[in-house]
Amino acid sequence: MKKITIAIDGYSSCGKSTMAKALAKRIGYVFVDTGAMYRAATLVALRNNLFDENNNLDAPRLEELLAETRVSQQNNPATGATETFLNNQNVENEIRSMEVSSRVSIVAALPFVRRHMVRLQQEMGHDGGVVMDGRDIGTTVFPDAQLKIFVTASPEVRAMRRYEELKAKGMEVSLEEVARNISERDYIDTHREESPLRQAADAVVFDNTNLSREEQFVMLLALFNERVGN
Ligand code: C5P
Repeated sequence: MKKITIAIDGYSSCGKSTMAKALAKRIGYVFVDTGAMYRAATLVALRNNLFDENNNLDAPRLEELLAETRVSQQNNPATGATETFLNNQNVENEIRSMEVSSRVSIVAALPFVRRHMVRLQQEMGHDGGVVMDGRDIGTTVFPDAQLKIFVTASPEVRAMRRYEELKAKGMEVSLEEVARNISERDYIDTHREESPLRQAADAVVFDNTNLSREEQFVMLLALFNERVGN
């Protein structure tokens, strides 16, 4: 059976990755977390002290560094989780820090960063069989994806979900800080010039404010089965 391409886009902390991962596992597709790739680029900038105290970025230097850095994702067979690597170093935990979260949208708005990542993502999904989550997958990376989902949820629910996730990982954050970060990222992501976050005209909208993970999964699987003609 031909494998299709599935694009899951939406606002920050809507549970896109959770949905995408669960679906990919069930249908035997590869899960790609594109946000992790922009986070990895941000970590490169931080490690090389490319931000000044006002968060202005030395973009030309970042462009040089990205050209010589390999950003990749690999499945950890022991845990089943997808992990992000910079060259051969696992950076999965580091890219989730607030230090990265508070700067990632600045980095992701740079046209050369987007071109670089979009090209990598298109290569990863070239043969179909991927569930890719991000902000511009259904609009820019794979505008012809056979199934596009646009996920949204109320800001309060999103902030609480992300806060609980970070707490569970042992990170020291306040709910206010998380809520502020989410709304700042949403603002930059929807207002940037290069492929801003927006709903593709042919996307199915999922408002999951009041949906459980199981309910979403059932809906998503039904849409997948419909698209592949099962
Ligand atoms: O998905 P996640 O919240 O980890 O994404 C982190 C950031 O990466 C987003 O806030 C956005 O600025 C950027 N991003 C993007 N395009 C994507 C995926 C993520 O600009 N396809």
